[in-house]
Amino acid sequence: MIFVDVILPLPLVETFTFEVPEHFENIQVGTRVVVQFGKKKIYTALVFKKHAVAPLGYIVKPILEIVEDIPIVSKKQLKFWEWISNYYCCSLGEVMNVALPSSVKLSSETKFTLTEKKVDYSLLNQNELSIIKTLEKNSKLSINDVFTIINTKKAFLVVESLLDKNLIHVFEELNESYKPKIKKFIKLENFHLDRSELINSKKQLQVFDFLVEYNSNNPDSFILMKDLIFHTQCSYQTIKGLVSKSIISVLDLKVDRIDRFSENQLDTLPILSNAQKNAFDSINNQFMTKDVVLLHGITSSGKTEIYINLINELIKKGQQVLYLLPEIALTSQIIRRLQLYFGDKVVVYHSKLNQHERTEIWKDLRSGKRYSVVIGARSSLFLPFKNLGCIIIDEEHETTFKQFQPNPKYHARDCSIMLAKMLGIKVLLGSATPSIESYYNSKIGKYGFVSLNERYGNMELPDVEIVDLKYLRHRKLLKSSFSEKLLDSIKTSLKNSEQVILFQNRRGFAPVSTCLDCGWVYQCKSCDVSLTYHKNLNLLKCHYCGFSASPIEKCHSCNSHNISVKGLGTEKIEEELTELIPDARIKRMDLDTTSKKNAHQNIINEFEQGKIDILIGTQMVTKGLDFDNVSVVGVIYADNMLNFPDFRSHERSFNLMVQVAGRAGRKKKKGKVIIQTYSAQHEIIKAVIESNYNQMYNDQILERKAFGYPPFIKLIELEVSHRNFEINNLAAKDLANALRESFGTNVLGPEYPMVSRIKNLYIKNILLKIDSDISSAKVKKHLLNLIKWLKSQSKYKSVKVKIDVDPV
Ligand code: ADP
Ligand code: ZN
Ligand code: ZN
Repeated sequence: MIFVDVILPLPLVETFTFEVPEHFENIQVGTRVVVQFGKKKIYTALVFKKHAVAPLGYIVKPILEIVEDIPIVSKKQLKFWEWISNYYCCSLGEVMNVALPSSVKLSSETKFTLTEKKVDYSLLNQNELSIIKTLEKNSKLSINDVFTIINTKKAFLVVESLLDKNLIHVFEELNESYKPKIKKFIKLENFHLDRSELINSKKQLQVFDFLVEYNSNNPDSFILMKDLIFHTQCSYQTIKGLVSKSIISVLDLKVDRIDRFSENQLDTLPILSNAQKNAFDSINNQFMTKDVVLLHGITSSGKTEIYINLINELIKKGQQVLYLLPEIALTSQIIRRLQLYFGDKVVVYHSKLNQHERTEIWKDLRSGKRYSVVIGARSSLFLPFKNLGCIIIDEEHETTFKQFQPNPKYHARDCSIMLAKMLGIKVLLGSATPSIESYYNSKIGKYGFVSLNERYGNMELPDVEIVDLKYLRHRKLLKSSFSEKLLDSIKTSLKNSEQVILFQNRRGFAPVSTCLDCGWVYQCKSCDVSLTYHKNLNLLKCHYCGFSASPIEKCHSCNSHNISVKGLGTEKIEEELTELIPDARIKRMDLDTTSKKNAHQNIINEFEQGKIDILIGTQMVTKGLDFDNVSVVGVIYADNMLNFPDFRSHERSFNLMVQVAGRAGRKKKKGKVIIQTYSAQHEIIKAVIESNYNQMYNDQILERKAFGYPPFIKLIELEVSHRNFEINNLAAKDLANALRESFGTNVLGPEYPMVSRIKNLYIKNILLKIDSDISSAKVKKHLLNLIKWLKSQSKYKSVKVKIDVDPV
């Protein structure tokens, strides 16, 4: 008897075993099967192991169907999934959920609807036809419905075939409903027409001749109707006339959703400066002995050009490259730069693409088609590369490489390094401000190290000037959020037709509604946070649960009408600045203004085209942008990031300030950075002034060692939550005490986190420090057992415990 252990798309800890009927015995690991799980639920599951050991304790059900003969996930990829599931203490199902696009994870609940594509009934088999006919009547069907309609276990196969033909799409209730990209094309039906037949219509003849010529030049493709009209200046009537004579026909065809690069590709590579060339050679040299190399290159040193040269070498060898970026929305500039050199070989993969776009890329890669360079956000690590040769991780210090929710809470940089190890390939990490962890790893020789500390084209680093807010406040010289120095610099810059970027850290500046008489603050009913005022919506909103309320006029505590909205968010800054410099063109770039799909890109384009004078933004303005005309960068208030209660806050403040400072300066003119702060003497501020990464690193590494933080130890954070405050506190305490029996003083907490109630769940955190000489696999096993033990007590049955390995 043969059995398979399968992964279900569910957060189950274990895989599940099914029996393989004889006629399926050639089943392979990595293929999908249809199984029944739970009372009536049907899923596509992935075969993880094939074996002959009957499971004990339950009656094994047979698999119902094999979806495909050839594995869709390779053994190496499965090994990688397994590692993630073990390392991050999550289930294989959860890993599969991030790894595969939704259209290959059908379950009985999955619903789908018709696309707008014209159905050619003659191309459908009987089963497909019944589904389409039913869908034409009822707009939505689930897989369960399909099972009833066609009454065969082949339901999934039928649905997949229709998906492939683009006649239906998976309906994602929460997301956008999908519109396929269909365009009208013209097909020449009658090539050998006697031209004299068209002698009466000059226009029709002209179109016919054009099409004949087009066809001989492009035998494999149809012309877009739009293009035909453009080139021949014909009217729609002319086209209709030709259609009625059956000379041409109009086709509705699905066009590739993945934008093709249409500009001319360059046929040379960027020519590296001497410093860049040295760095490039050094990277290649170090790859001989090291699997990971860290490139520490200051802002505008031209790291991208080095990547481009590296990518080129790998493509020449027939290999693929994965280029990981922290936030894909912020990086269209880089995409454009890569496409300039590699054209159509470049593809972009991230979560803002819809399911069909994602599936298309996934399938193309799996079939080994065309793409050599994938630029992607963290989930692109799971794409089915055929021949991956190298992973480049740009801005490797960025914490957005870590997934917060849902599981797996994986760090794409760390996972890349593991994946590369499994595949026997190299990883290049790049940053102007490397993470302490990576820099440390290069210092101890675990990673190779290359530094590039001159800017390209002899551009100078900007001057950093500090505005001492404490002093100004003392002398009553501060009338707004803008010191005179900052304001004057902005004005001068505008006078010279140059641009300005202003940075305000996201954290802790949200405007909240406060009573000026009693100090009451309007808080969310279900979360332990203040509501944030959104001026454009005129609403108070909870950023944790989405609750919203109208602005209040009366204090809920003392009934006073003296309510004020306080805060110093980007919106407030924008408002102040509009008053101070009324004729400046000011735009804001933050989460609010960039929620729509292309909003972010539009702002960047406008700024590039000089349609904006001053760009005010949060973290977003610090990253990956390369502007030509920015002479002044201002940091409105540096203190709240410096004082943020987190062992990484100094490192992060340094990174943010250095990165945003890097946006200042033009090809021939030195830029200026002005930092406003109450902590003018702070060691981090000093390091920023001198742009001295090493000083920051040396300070930080001493502190990390003294207080026991990464890279010297590993951290695991446990989040205990429950609806009942008391039960939650007790559960957290019991768990922490149980942990202390094994780990003693390496267990910290339980503590209330910064927000200790979300959606009416009370939360407590426990922090576990693991010395680097202890096997973290054993620790995790022990941890999982303790959690099981905790939840086995009836009073704690519904307590939730979430594990975050390497929290950031
Ligand atoms: P980094 O990523 O290190 O901050 P970039 O790669 O964005 O730096 O380079 C900064 C600027 O200098 C860009 O405008 C880039 O086009 C230009 N540049 C860097 N190196 C070269 C080169 N070798 N040839 C031409 N332009 C370059
Ligand atoms: Zn809330
Ligand atoms: Zn009050």
